[in-house]
Amino acid sequence: MTDIKSMNLSELTAYLTDNGFEKFRAKQVLSWIQHDVSSFDDMKNIPARLREFLKSDAYLATAEIVRTRRSKLDETVKYLYCLNDGEYVEGVLMSYRHGRSICISTQVGCKMGCTFCATGKSGFSRSLTASEMIAQICSAESDCGERISNVVLMGMGEPFDNYDNVIRFLRLVSSEDSLNIGMRHITISTCGIVPRMLEFADLQLQCGLSVSLHAPNDEARSRTMPVNRRYPIAQVIEASRYYVEKTNRRITFEYALIDGENDSDAAARELASLLKGMLCHVNLIPVNNVTGAGYRKSSIKRQQAFVNILSAQGINATVRRTLGSDIEASCGQLKRNYMKGDV
Ligand code: SAH
Ligand code: SF4
Repeated sequence: MTDIKSMNLSELTAYLTDNGFEKFRAKQVLSWIQHDVSSFDDMKNIPARLREFLKSDAYLATAEIVRTRRSKLDETVKYLYCLNDGEYVEGVLMSYRHGRSICISTQVGCKMGCTFCATGKSGFSRSLTASEMIAQICSAESDCGERISNVVLMGMGEPFDNYDNVIRFLRLVSSEDSLNIGMRHITISTCGIVPRMLEFADLQLQCGLSVSLHAPNDEARSRTMPVNRRYPIAQVIEASRYYVEKTNRRITFEYALIDGENDSDAAARELASLLKGMLCHVNLIPVNNVTGAGYRKSSIKRQQAFVNILSAQGINATVRRTLGSDIEASCGQLKRNYMKGDV
């Protein structure tokens, strides 16, 4: 079956004309797709013959919200989405003064196995299509009744392990024919798949890039992030510098502060020397609780000491505010293992 929600206007035009339909039908079909219809029968202004053809040859990817959890501490909402084939992913809607931001998933689970991350612990099932990424945004917009202005690819999955679909998604979602969310309002987070980081830099998109570092040297990083054995830290930093050079954009490094693991003064100094001279920002995240991970957040005092060392070395760093902690909606807390009764 054809995934028409992943197609752009020219692909849809080719698809329809190749199958004997008029060119102008593509715009009509595309505008219905943007209205988040779930059935071809809802596409009222297209002829029955075209509707029948689409029903027999294509499908509309959906991400149906099957459970909603609303934080009592802030305005964060966590969605459990069910995809067409019955797989589940999670997404998180955050409200800020400047608008709504959604964190979407790019894979069902993740292969990377970071020891501090619930997604990594839940195994991997498959990658998402571009249409399934779009569908998560459409469903959230329908639920909250407002336009979403920012998107972060920081939910379940490693975006650069699903590179082609993610790039397709970026181009689609930012196009005028689709949701028209500008690249500047989108951020991708990667655990450091070096070849894809280089490819991504070469595209020179205006989309933001975050790199999950979480340790200042190979020994410590390999302990918590198995991907580091494949792509060691020096290569990740080199690829990050290349991205900045190519795009003239500031890059962000994510660093989860884990008590006694990566939060010493020496670690902060090592991190500072690694990043020296780079146009970057360090996002420090007191590590979030993940069942079975056995990590604890660094104390407030340690967090502050870490920031101070980085700042003294001229590295821009802040401690990120935790949102949705009462509904397990914070970084690293999303997972795919749902008991049927859970939904
Ligand atoms: N796979 C991508 C994007 C999804 S994870 C990546 O790893 O970058 C989104 C962010 O949450 C990453 O920076 C990740 O390292 C971080 N994260 C995962 N588990 C966490 C935890 N328990 N506490 C804080 N941050 C965590
Ligand atoms: Fe995958 Fe990112 Fe979690 Fe690591 S932190 S297991 S790369 S989702």
